Amino acid sequence: MKDHISYILNDLGEGRSNYYNAMSPPIIQTSNFVFPTVDTFREAIMDELNAHIYTKGNNPTVEMARKKIAALEGTDDALLFASGTAAISMTIMHCAGQGDHVICVRHPYAWTATVLSKYLVRFGVEYDFVDGSDLEAIEALIKPNTKLLFLESPNTFTYDIQDIEACVALAKQYNLITAMDNSYASPIFQQPAKMGVDIVIHSVTKYINGHSDVVAGVVCSSQKIINKMFVDEFMILGGILPPQEAALILRGLRTLPIRMERIQKSTEYILAKLKGHPKIKRVYYPFDPDFPQYDLARKQMSGCGGLFTIEFDLPDKASVIALVNSIKRWKIAVSWGGHEALMFPIAALHDIPGRDNPHIPWSFVRFYVGLEEPEYLLADLLEAMG
Ligand SMILES: *Cc1c(COP(=O)(O)O)cnc(C)c1O
Repeated sequence: MKDHISYILNDLGEGRSNYYNAMSPPIIQTSNFVFPTVDTFREAIMDELNAHIYTKGNNPTVEMARKKIAALEGTDDALLFASGTAAISMTIMHCAGQGDHVICVRHPYAWTATVLSKYLVRFGVEYDFVDGSDLEAIEALIKPNTKLLFLESPNTFTYDIQDIEACVALAKQYNLITAMDNSYASPIFQQPAKMGVDIVIHSVTKYINGHSDVVAGVVCSSQKIINKMFVDEFMILGGILPPQEAALILRGLRTLPIRMERIQKSTEYILAKLKGHPKIKRVYYPFDPDFPQYDLARKQMSGCGGLFTIEFDLPDKASVIALVNSIKRWKIAVSWGGHEALMFPIAALHDIPGRDNPHIPWSFVRFYVGLEEPEYLLADLLEAMG
């Protein structure tokens, strides 16, 4: 039962006898820790990832969140970062250096693409973007210097899915490391490490924290990779998570499974009622039976969450903008995964240099279902659509 979700969320990593048997852990708000003797100090320095020496390396509040998220993903350990983007950047930096080549799925999270195309190229890292559903296309790009296959399944506007086990098998054949951004599904609905992925990343900002009040990221992997990344990137680049944020994440984690269950049910209810609406051209949602990769989604994910995209059947950009402006309960914002329903109209990005997404047309609006009553959210959408 040590991997049972309730055990992980309630007990794993908690040290209640160290803090008056308090049910809820204290926030260990300190930069450094004291030692009674030179020997105990020296012993701690030899194991900085697990000892408590300095909060840049390891803090007990952060450690508790780290252990719980690793257990949910089914990996040995994890590292928490100041943002999901930091977790992604440091993973790629860990896996590829000067002269190496990275293969990444096309249309990943925008800053993942930027890390490769704008930043790491300056340090001599080569890259290619590829249709992740086309195994032959991936294989054709593998070169002697290829080190990393970076996946994101599903991604977050069009929900492109990769066959995770097939990608892992291909990567193993050529000795590539596999890393995957698993933010869309959360560790409740998909565990890529159990399908053989070496490094699993989350934007903790989204479902894991779940209350729109923390920006954080996590890398989950084997003890060997975490130990090495701790020394080679984490301690040097220093994009760490402070203890206050970790305490909020611990609180968010306690309700992660019930939030996911609620969001999943609400989303299915809303999408079923929207089916066939004359102003909707197409809905993008992996658990919609009409979704092109529906069978693969069902095979890899035990649930799908609250993020979907509607392609509206409207004559021009102005009418999409007018429709979005007339929706009252769903709020216009970036991000997702919190308690509140959101929408991201792609029309907002159009013609902004560097922010335009040629593969996503202006008629797309991404919706996120929060913890509200689904009837309330649906009524608002139906009223706006007329
Ligand atoms: C938001 C997001 C990220 C980045 O996370 P931040 O915490 O905002 O840096 C990475 N991947 C996906 C899929 C995301 O949605």
